[in-house]
Amino acid sequence: MSENKSQAEVLKEQLYLDYKHLAKKMEDDEIKLADQFCEGYKKFLDNAKTEREAVRTVVKMATEKGFIPFEPKTNYQPGTKVFYVNREKAVILAVIGKLPVSEGVHMCAAHIDSPRLDLKPNPLYEDAEFAMFKTHYYGGIKKYQWTAIPLSLHGRIVKKDGGIVDVSIGEDDNDPVFCVTDLLPHLAAEQMKRPLAEAIKGEELNILIGSRPFKDDKGSELVKLNILKMLNDKYGIIEADFLSAELELVPAFKARDLGFDRSLIGAYGHDDRVCAYPAMMAALDCGVPDYTAVTVLTDKEEIGSDGNTGLNSAYLKYFISDLADAQSARLYEVLTKSECLSADVNAGFDPNYPDVSERRNCAYLNKGVVVTKYTGARGKSGTSDASAEYMGRVRRMFDDAGVDWQIGELGKVDAGGGGTVAMYIANMNVDVVDVGVPVLSMHAPFEVVAKLDVYMAYKAFMAFFKSDN
Ligand code: MN
Ligand code: MN
Repeated sequence: MSENKSQAEVLKEQLYLDYKHLAKKMEDDEIKLADQFCEGYKKFLDNAKTEREAVRTVVKMATEKGFIPFEPKTNYQPGTKVFYVNREKAVILAVIGKLPVSEGVHMCAAHIDSPRLDLKPNPLYEDAEFAMFKTHYYGGIKKYQWTAIPLSLHGRIVKKDGGIVDVSIGEDDNDPVFCVTDLLPHLAAEQMKRPLAEAIKGEELNILIGSRPFKDDKGSELVKLNILKMLNDKYGIIEADFLSAELELVPAFKARDLGFDRSLIGAYGHDDRVCAYPAMMAALDCGVPDYTAVTVLTDKEEIGSDGNTGLNSAYLKYFISDLADAQSARLYEVLTKSECLSADVNAGFDPNYPDVSERRNCAYLNKGVVVTKYTGARGKSGTSDASAEYMGRVRRMFDDAGVDWQIGELGKVDAGGGGTVAMYIANMNVDVVDVGVPVLSMHAPFEVVAKLDVYMAYKAFMAFFKSDN
């Protein structure tokens, strides 16, 4: 048909940057593969709503694929698959490569914590014959989105004697759920005048957990007493046990296909399971790579990566140090030659809110995995900003492997900003760039991604692990 094209059209094809919808480019067979891949992803989302559950799920899946617990002083043969768990809230998968680690390792880093409502240390109280929990939200949320939706309770209680109680209530269809109530519009005249950021205040995010009193005419707070008695009967806990607990409320609904064409997935926690799952699957499926392949699935990204299970902690460095020691290599040498794809989401263009995006430099759903050269705010503050050389390297690698990718900034220059784990990895003198899946309604209880992009993330991480340079 090219004979029908004008000279300008031919030139444009040669010279212009043009991203096409993946469904127009991909073969039907590969689209089918992508949809199948997402069936596994949806199951993962439902089984791994918190960082602890994600670690458990990843270890189970990795063990089934032959991964073994990492032993620090062992010099593993190429192809050996190991995992290391940090405090049950972060996990590293590694596949030992053919090359010595002194040549560097290839890392994918994603996070498995998501915005949510955490219980306060002393959460339980009674008011107007309702039993309630006080919460302190975790990560950047728009508080009004967390009212009047069903919530499930997940986490761990450690009793005084060290006994452990793991809790998951609200996921099974027969389980009860919980919620934050909201004001009826009829009586919300004053509330509706509040600016959106204050529409629901932090101290109003209280969870309704019960309403029937303990049957006794004497005494006060009998609804609270009744709830505590039920918890004591079921878990053997007393009120003081909340002091040593991590309990998290997350949306109780499951991941669902979205749209008549089922091209999208709506779910809680796409940020960042939509990168964690493909990064894990790439580790499981990469065979015997040239470079040692390391997938780190970390905690605490949503609150700034601090804490010993976040990537600002030394645990990843210690792990690589152990790999280096086992081969008599120097840690700094390994790190300096290492490369990383910081696997995190970016905002997709949303036709409902076009004003926050700069259309020439934002990511679009269904146009492939998004490479984000830098994040940050107020003039690239708080980011690592990948070099032209590393961008060139990633560009070549993806193009050669048939990975469809696009460039994306996080919104307009002055619209706000954000960060990822990339800078903590870059601070170890590792080349790193953000690569992930574009998301709509990021940090909302129900986020949206496109299936073809999810599959393209898997293909991207796989290309990285299989790369021979
Ligand atoms: Mn993220
Ligand atoms: Mn986030």
